Amino acid sequence: MYLSMYDEYVVRSEFNNIVEVNLHQVKSAVIVGTVRLIPQNVPWYYLACRTCNRNVTKKSSKDDQPVGVLVDEEDIYECKTPSCNNNVIHYLQRLRLPLAVQDSIGTIALTLFDRDASKLLKTSA
Ligand SMILES: [Zn+2]
Repeated sequence: MYLSMYDEYVVRSEFNNIVEVNLHQVKSAVIVGTVRLIPQNVPWYYLACRTCNRNVTKKSSKDDQPVGVLVDEEDIYECKTPSCNNNVIHYLQRLRLPLAVQDSIGTIALTLFDRDASKLLKTSA
């Protein structure tokens, strides 16, 4: 059944104040608030696995490298999710903006990820 965006987010959604959002329960939520702060001292992007979009970590150059093979350390990253299983992967830069969002009752820390952030900012990482 197709629902309009208005029906899906306004008619069928339960609305709560920011302080009533349970951050320990996985569920969809509609939050109506104002972005009050985007921290300037943290990166607005992360290095994402091309397979699963999770954060990748830089692999130590001393691990598993054959002797005599010259490898550019900047390009070797690994993804530690079970599906990717530490395979050396290529990565992408993706937007990830930490936000402080406020409604009439309180403030909550949220993260705006790549798809929505790029729409709002009209740019990519
Ligand atoms: Zn991955």
